[in-house]
Amino acid sequence: MIMPDVQKLLDKIYHSVIPEIEDLESVLSFQDDGQIAQLFNFSDKVRKEFCGDGVALRGIIEFSNYCSRECFYCGINKNNHRLRRYRMDEKQILDAVEYLASCNIKTVVLQSGEDGILNALWMKEVIEKIKSRWDIAITLSVGERSADDYKTWRKAGADRYLLKIETSEEALYSSMHPGMDFKKRLDCLRILKELNYQVGSGNLIGLPAQSLKMIAQDIIFFKRNDFDMIGIGPFIPHQDTRFAGQNKGNVLLTLKTIALTRLVTKNAHIPATTALGSMDRDYRLDGLKCGANILMPNFTPAPYRKFYEIYPQKRCVNEPVGVCNLCMETMAKGLGRFIDYSQADSLKSGKKFKQILNSKPEIPACRQAKQI
Ligand code: SAM
Repeated sequence: MIMPDVQKLLDKIYHSVIPEIEDLESVLSFQDDGQIAQLFNFSDKVRKEFCGDGVALRGIIEFSNYCSRECFYCGINKNNHRLRRYRMDEKQILDAVEYLASCNIKTVVLQSGEDGILNALWMKEVIEKIKSRWDIAITLSVGERSADDYKTWRKAGADRYLLKIETSEEALYSSMHPGMDFKKRLDCLRILKELNYQVGSGNLIGLPAQSLKMIAQDIIFFKRNDFDMIGIGPFIPHQDTRFAGQNKGNVLLTLKTIALTRLVTKNAHIPATTALGSMDRDYRLDGLKCGANILMPNFTPAPYRKFYEIYPQKRCVNEPVGVCNLCMETMAKGLGRFIDYSQADSLKSGKKFKQILNSKPEIPACRQAKQI
């Protein structure tokens, strides 16, 4: 049953250029099942209208877990001396990309901690080699770097960059990122945009001392910055960090944030994050039902995958590489949707990227091989 007051509020948010923070806060505080269902139905409709029914894939390769940062929430922060560290070499990365490409995945996300050893020219060569061998989009996610490095990599062929703001509340950000500067992070995001990367950002839900108002402010931050992709995931405490023993982020609040972000940003790519899949059960399907349109299968090779432990009990850590495809196809089909095997570039208007709407599903080679 549609509740007119709720619809009025959701419509107001949907039609605002920049929504009122109080309106977003009210929706984030919905507890009534009917109100929440109305929000999710609406955000799912908006997803369908602006992004279509394709669920696009971003294959992630976590190529180094070395990190020079001390983020209080993150299991790979430099003070976690219990963690076994690894750094994949060029051949290992290219082999992993080859496998990913054989699965017909057209985006590789190369992610690492802020590895002090990561050399810009080495990264440039990796990007160039990938681009010369495969028709694949490259997303980098290696943290804060100089404008020169970002420029070098963009020129080498990197298409996208993922740098989450984590929280848009400066005081909260500073309290859990020692030695880091909120303004520097904003600067990095600005430079990445100026270099014409497709830029992804995002936040964590349920950080200690984070309020609903701060989350509402994050959504406004996403809108103002017109990001191409926005990753919203629950905070999951890691036993070997400063935030050990804190509460996990709330799933429902994460889903409400995804839904509102869809209403407000309309056509940003929004993943149903692996963190959402790593709670007491896998909630990625729920994410896809309330506004998300992206999944991120893991292609980090087996000896290393379990050491990229940003939080414990990460989904699919023990799965053989490539099996994720099947699982993701099942998820999409169960919702009457399909896996979009295109590069799925940004849907933001005015940008000269290919569009994914109505692209046809294809069966990936690695799936055919697995079925034989
Ligand atoms: N170094 C890069 C950077 O800073 O953007 C990428 C690596 S960082 C480990 C990737 C993401 O992991 C972060 O943006 C953060 O949102 C997420 N993350 C880290 N610790 C987490 C935790 N305990 N729970 C959920 N997500 C976490």
